[in-house]
Amino acid sequence: MTKLKPYWWELTKRPAASEQQALPKEVDILIVGAGLTGLSAARTAAKAGQSVLVVDEHSPGFGASSRNGGMLGGGHKLSIAEMTARYGEHIALELLREAHLDSGKFVRTVMAEEAIDCDYDQVGRFRGFWHTHEYETTARELEQLQKLLPIEASLLSQAQQHQAVASDLYRGGVVYHQHAAINPAKWVFGLHRAAVDHGTLIQGNTAVLGLQKSSHGYLVNTVRGMVKAGKVLLATNGYTPPQMAALHRRVFPVPSFIITTENLGRERIKQLFPSDMMVVESRARHCYYRPSPDKTRIVFGARAALFDAPEKFAMGQLRKLLRQVFPQLGQIDISHSWRGFTGFSFEFMPHVGQIDGVWHAAGYSGNGNTLAPWLGHKAALQMIGDPAGETAFSHSALKTRWWYHNRAWFLPFADLAFRGRDFWSDWSRS
Ligand SMILES: Cc1cc2nc3c(=O)[nH]c(=O)nc-3n(C[C@H](O)[C@H](O)[C@H](O)COP(=O)(O)OP(=O)(O)OC[C@H]3O[C@@H](n4cnc5c(N)ncnc54)[C@H](O)[C@@H]3O)c2cc1C
Repeated sequence: MTKLKPYWWELTKRPAASEQQALPKEVDILIVGAGLTGLSAARTAAKAGQSVLVVDEHSPGFGASSRNGGMLGGGHKLSIAEMTARYGEHIALELLREAHLDSGKFVRTVMAEEAIDCDYDQVGRFRGFWHTHEYETTARELEQLQKLLPIEASLLSQAQQHQAVASDLYRGGVVYHQHAAINPAKWVFGLHRAAVDHGTLIQGNTAVLGLQKSSHGYLVNTVRGMVKAGKVLLATNGYTPPQMAALHRRVFPVPSFIITTENLGRERIKQLFPSDMMVVESRARHCYYRPSPDKTRIVFGARAALFDAPEKFAMGQLRKLLRQVFPQLGQIDISHSWRGFTGFSFEFMPHVGQIDGVWHAAGYSGNGNTLAPWLGHKAALQMIGDPAGETAFSHSALKTRWWYHNRAWFLPFADLAFRGRDFWSDWSRS
C-alpha cells in the first residue's frame, strides 16, 4: 500500500519546539512561513540580536522545504545570454556567482556551524540531454561559465553516460561535481533547531490572515491574535495565500510530484546509479531522481501535471516515466507518493525586496535548497540595515501580469501546451 506522505518525514524527527506558546505582543521581526527561507532569515536576524517570531499555518517545515527531492546545488532557469540581456553583464555575473558558488558555500557553513546532519553526500548531479544538439550548445555555455567562475563540471558523451546512470534514454549529459544529495526534512528541521537555539520563537498552526500598516510598523492578524511587528518578511513562496495579494500575484504555485520505490537493495541501486549520482533531465518533463540516502530506493520526481492533479493520475504518470528511464526495473512497488508546491516568478528568477514596506524572498522557480536559505539570510540582513545584505537578487524583478489575480487559472492550459510540446519534442528527437 503506497503511503501518501513524504518519505523524508518517516526518516526525520520533527522539531520539538513547535508546541504552542503564548504569542508575544510585539516583536522586531515577524516572519510568515517556517521553511528554508523563513528559518534561515530568523537565524540571521536572531543572531544579530533582534526579537524574532516565525509563524506557519501548518507545522514548521510543512511546505516544499521538507518535501523536495533533496538535490542541493546551484541552478538557474535562464541562460547566461538571457541573464546578460536582461540585467547587464555585471549583475548577470553576480547572479551566477551567488547561484553557483556563494549560496552553496553559505549552506555548507551553516550546516557545519550548527552541526546539522542532513545526510549531506557530494555525489554530483548528471543532467541528461534529450536532444543530440544539446551536447554542443551545453559545451559552449559551460566553457563560457567556467571562464567566469570556478565551476567543477564535465561533459559525458552518450557512450560514457552509463558512468552516471544505467539508462539509454539520454544523448549524453553534463555532470556538476559540486552538487550534493541531502535529506531535505533533516535540513529544514535542522535550521529550525538552529533558529530556536539563537532565540527565535517558532509557532506552527498560526496562520496569518492579514497585515495592516501602523505607526510603528505592522499589525499582523493571526488566527491566534494580533502581533505588532517592526518589520515583516513573507517567506511563503509557492504557498503564498491570496490575502497576501501583492506577493501572491507575483509568485504562482506549480506542483511537483514525487514518489519513492520500495527497498530495491543496495546492489540493484548500484547497478542503476554506478556512482550514486543524482540525475535531472533537459526535457520539459523535468524528471529528477536519485538514490535514497541509504542507497536502497529510488526517489523520483517529475512534472506529472502543472495543476493539482488527482493522486492516481499523478502516480500513474510517474510510474510510466520511471519505467521509461529504467525499463530493466520491471514491476516494482511504490512505497510513498506525495507532492509539494514550488513558487514560480514570471521571470523564472527569485527576488529579495519589499512591496509597500513588506519584505519578501521568493520565486525560486523549482530550486531552493541553497537559494532559499541564502536569500532568507540576505533578506534578514537587509531588514536590519546590514550592508552585507546586498545581493544581485534584489536587482532581478518580481513582476505580475494583468491577467493573474486570485487563482492560477492558466496552469491547466499551460499543462495542455506542455503536453503538446512533450509530444513534439519526442517526435522530433534526433
Ligand atoms: C516536490 C518538490 C521537489 C523539489 N525538489 C527540489 C530539489 O531537489 N532541489 C532544490 O533545490 N529545490 C527543490 N524544490 C524547491 C524547494 O523545495 C523550494 O524552493 C524551497 O523549499 C522553498 O522554501 P521556502 O521556505 O521559501 O517555502 P516553503 O518551504 O514552501 O514554505 C512556505 C511556508 O509558508 C507557510 N504559509 C503559507 N501561507 C501562510 C500563512 N498565511 N500564514 C502562515 N504560514 C503560511 C506554509 O505553510 C509553508 O510551510 C522542490 C520543490 C518541490 C515541491
